[in-house]
Amino acid sequence: MLVIGAGGVGTPVALALALSGSCRLRIVDDDEVELSNLHRQILFQDSDVGRSKLEALTRALRSHAPQVEVEAIDGRFLPETAGEILRGVAVVVDGSDNFATRFLTADACALAEVPVVHGAALRWQATCFVTGAGGRRPCYRCLFEDLPEEPAPDCGTAGVLGPVCGVSGGVAADAALRWLAGDTRIAGTVASFDGHSGRLRRTRVQPRANCSLCGEGATIRELDRRRYGGGRCDA
Ligand SMILES: [Zn+2]
Repeated sequence: MLVIGAGGVGTPVALALALSGSCRLRIVDDDEVELSNLHRQILFQDSDVGRSKLEALTRALRSHAPQVEVEAIDGRFLPETAGEILRGVAVVVDGSDNFATRFLTADACALAEVPVVHGAALRWQATCFVTGAGGRRPCYRCLFEDLPEEPAPDCGTAGVLGPVCGVSGGVAADAALRWLAGDTRIAGTVASFDGHSGRLRRTRVQPRANCSLCGEGATIRELDRRRYGGGRCDA
């Protein structure tokens, strides 16, 4: 299993998958632990500030789940590296924090026929969208057509409640494990959690006939870095 991003969503995902005892984990990230992130990145502590997230996460996972095999990839998930990073992966959990990486993940996984769970959190809202494998409909681009033209708010600028990240990560890990166990009914569904009401809803996404990734006349056949803001992808 591959986890993209060792942040507020990626750390609870990695912990849940590691504790499931049934997988080898590949994790990709190139960031460092920051003090302002500690409220949502539950496996890091004050003494980790300034260290590599991958290093801190790998150490924490080995402490919680000594049996887990962790392959840490210090770098970014980019059009140039996506194919190699996806090699041999059964399920991807996308815990990245920006639309460029999410769209790249969606496209790369559809082309490589790997199912992907997209977990995201912002302010009081958590979402988790599950796609199938093999370009099966609906895909991420059926839900969000393309990158927003204006810079979208992220956790750094708009803030996020720590437990909301935990919900997103928990739901995403649950979806990934269900997929591995053969439950493909969750493909094409989006789970939304509202931290104000405490309500979790799951709805089915409708395929878009003219989707550029999975539609009849799909135009996305390869990973062109210009499609992802000139390759400004981050994990
Ligand atoms: Zn689609």
